[in-house]
Amino acid sequence: MISASALVSEALEPGAEFPDGSAEGLTAVESLHERLEELLMQSRGDGDLFGGVNLGVDPVPELQVPESWTWTLQIPPVAEFVGPVEIRWNEGCERGLFATRQIFPGEVLLVSRPLAVHSGVWAYSTAELVEQLLDACRNSARTRCQLQCLTDGWTSRAPPTLAVVSQALRPQPDTLPTEPLGSFLTREVLVNVVDRNSFHVNSKTAIYGLPSMINHSCGNVNASANILDPLGDAILFRAETEINAGSEIFFPYFKVSGSLHRRRERSEAMGFCCRCERCRFEAEILPGTKAAAASKDAMDAFDNKLRDEMQELRDQPKEAGLQSTMLLQEILSHTRRVASAIDRAWGEREVAWYLHLALPLYWCGVWCTQEQDPSLWKCTLTLVKARCELLLQMVLAWEYTDRHSYDHLKCCYMLYLAFMEMTRLPLSSNHFWVPLVHHEVPLWRLEETPEPAQHTTSTELYASSRLGTRLC
Ligand SMILES: [Zn+2]
Repeated sequence: MISASALVSEALEPGAEFPDGSAEGLTAVESLHERLEELLMQSRGDGDLFGGVNLGVDPVPELQVPESWTWTLQIPPVAEFVGPVEIRWNEGCERGLFATRQIFPGEVLLVSRPLAVHSGVWAYSTAELVEQLLDACRNSARTRCQLQCLTDGWTSRAPPTLAVVSQALRPQPDTLPTEPLGSFLTREVLVNVVDRNSFHVNSKTAIYGLPSMINHSCGNVNASANILDPLGDAILFRAETEINAGSEIFFPYFKVSGSLHRRRERSEAMGFCCRCERCRFEAEILPGTKAAAASKDAMDAFDNKLRDEMQELRDQPKEAGLQSTMLLQEILSHTRRVASAIDRAWGEREVAWYLHLALPLYWCGVWCTQEQDPSLWKCTLTLVKARCELLLQMVLAWEYTDRHSYDHLKCCYMLYLAFMEMTRLPLSSNHFWVPLVHHEVPLWRLEETPEPAQHTTSTELYASSRLGTRLC
């Protein structure tokens, strides 16, 4: 790409002759030059793609070139980029993607173009993706190399070395294959590649090279993916949290909000059994503890009684003030028991995974605080405090799982609004204690009174809702 851009620059120098010697020729070369410079910037990690959230990516403007220049159709809509990551072996003797330096939240980890894409229902994607891959194998030596790196571990062929895989999955020019397809990349092999390496993001299913090296985790998610529809369905991975040098990058292959049983079902359907730290915590550390009993009691109460009561109240909210007050008090007694059963030796991650187990109960409690008639409580402040208490724990519960998911951001937003509401109430002190770990040793504290502000992006809103809280 560098040499292509240099050649076009040369063509733009004074005195250069254009293919047809016309002003259109000059426009065409300028248009090409602009596109190549943009691609060059992207390949170095610069440009619009790398500056923000990029939920709305603009389509690439059409090149102003003569129709006969059909070769320009081969110019990709976006350049591939590999950020501060590399492939290494992890502790489970599997390949994974690791940070080569300290990475900050929001940094782009990589941009990769697809080997095959299916838009529509996931269940019907395999046959179409396999056909696309077979087709690509016939015309692209690079696709063949990349696919061969995604097949080891379940074929009789010896797996390629890490150096070979790293080289094959890096951005590089493509060439036509010089040899016949041979007997290795068969339809059956490609079905396995699709089953084990498909990404399901933004209602699309796609196969990528380097992104397939990112392993799944239910509880240590530190990267998010976005398929960029207008840019040829390239996938863009960003860091969701601060990632230390040498740490592994994790991305959830499926929605990880469900129970351990549900997550196991999903991982087994994708050809692996998840043994991530969260799954091990729930399967091996939690059972038999006081905390496990507290969360089971809480969820039994929710499943057998409280959920039905909430649904009944939902149909008659206006006359139900007193009943919903009683329901909220019962929910708070359960959530406080859940909180007080937290093992003080746990870290923030274990606390978050544990709180996740009772999330439906917390949602129910938040609903009650919104449906309440404040006059039935001693004061509005008590009610807002109860809402903050529930929401703070919910925000924490998502920190290591579906972080920045719709539900997580919704909780952050509701928490922010609750803080705003609190600033309008007469407070005896600006410290707000939530009994999360122990009644006398609160985990969260409202450090400062947030000022009402206009927030234009979800990231700003999220940052703002986190501003007022700090782990003691
Ligand atoms: Zn897991």
